[in-house]
Amino acid sequence: MEFSERNDVKYLLELRDSEELKKIFDRAYQERIKYVGPKVYLRGLIEFSNICIKSCYYCGIRRSNTLPSRYLMKEDEIIESALWAFQNKYGSIVLQSGERRDSLFVESIGTIIEKIKKQTDGKLGITLSLGEQKDEVYEKWFAAGAHRYLLRIETSSKSLYEKLHPANHSFEKRKNCLTALKKIGYQVGTGVMIGLPMQTVDDLVDDLFFFKEMDVDMIGMGPYLASNNTPLNEQFPDHFADKEELLKLSLKMIAAARLLLKDVNIASTTALQALKYDGREQALKCGANIIMPNITLRKYRPYYQLYDNKPCIKESSELCKMCLTNRIISIGEKIGYDEWGDSLHFQKIKYRNTF
Ligand code: SAH
Ligand code: SF4
Repeated sequence: MEFSERNDVKYLLELRDSEELKKIFDRAYQERIKYVGPKVYLRGLIEFSNICIKSCYYCGIRRSNTLPSRYLMKEDEIIESALWAFQNKYGSIVLQSGERRDSLFVESIGTIIEKIKKQTDGKLGITLSLGEQKDEVYEKWFAAGAHRYLLRIETSSKSLYEKLHPANHSFEKRKNCLTALKKIGYQVGTGVMIGLPMQTVDDLVDDLFFFKEMDVDMIGMGPYLASNNTPLNEQFPDHFADKEELLKLSLKMIAAARLLLKDVNIASTTALQALKYDGREQALKCGANIIMPNITLRKYRPYYQLYDNKPCIKESSELCKMCLTNRIISIGEKIGYDEWGDSLHFQKIKYRNTF
């Protein structure tokens, strides 16, 4: 089986035979080693604000949710966290927050990127995950020194997307943002939530082929997890109670992404750990090669809960580092310290474009 055809990918997503599944997971792991190397790269994740202008029906920090206290980390705190990552040899950071488009926000992000770049001698890689913005804003942040951008399409099915978002959220607009980001020169990552209410296996197969069609460099997928006080949870209160099943489906998606897309970076996301204590390590054995340790200051963590029972809420960055590195090393993986670990997919395209 080559996993380049829809039927093969669907077969994998529906596979129940655990022995055959194990063989395919091993094969995806081997492909990971072959195409992106043996190292796992770290991205220190700074969730610097839960203020958001949008109201995605599944998200715990959606604007219409009046429960979480809203916060914005101070510039100094964000820079300090970035420097902590640098000193701890993380290689890169991810700046993530709710979506804001006001000029104060846009300007301050530009300044923060510049300061981090300056204070780390240009060495710390910066990924942004700040939602949909105008092309000029993406350009401005790229010029300031950010070089990767994560924007999940959430689902490649336009009709499902519309069921998961209010009418003023646009699937087309989000897709266009991905195209704009690529054009500007970012390494672009996208992804979906797995196991959403109303999502079919065919939708998931489409998602994987959407990643291929969009020619993205990075994939960040994770299970959909219920968040109290959200319209989606109210509509589907008993959805996907079986965590083992959801974890298995998520791992199948990661393996399928590796087998189909080969040389992209694939993240093993925090949400996998919410399903099982070693969910993230399992994903590394099925084709993922990126881990994003949380380095948000501890005092803010309880307020950035996109879903319920998020792990690492009480831990400090120091503790997360020790716990994660031990776990990664204990399963025989090597960490790429002080390296950007750029997507080889992206590097190849850059090379192609130079000639
Ligand atoms: N506001 C930005 C970045 C922060 S949200 C954006 O939306 O792009 C980051 C990701 O969290 C989203 O893309 C979504 O896929 C995920 N997310 C939100 N609510 C979730 C939930 N209930 N379960 C799992 N993932 C969720
Ligand atoms: Fe805001 Fe992102 Fe949550 Fe949507 S998923 S409500 S844009 S933080």
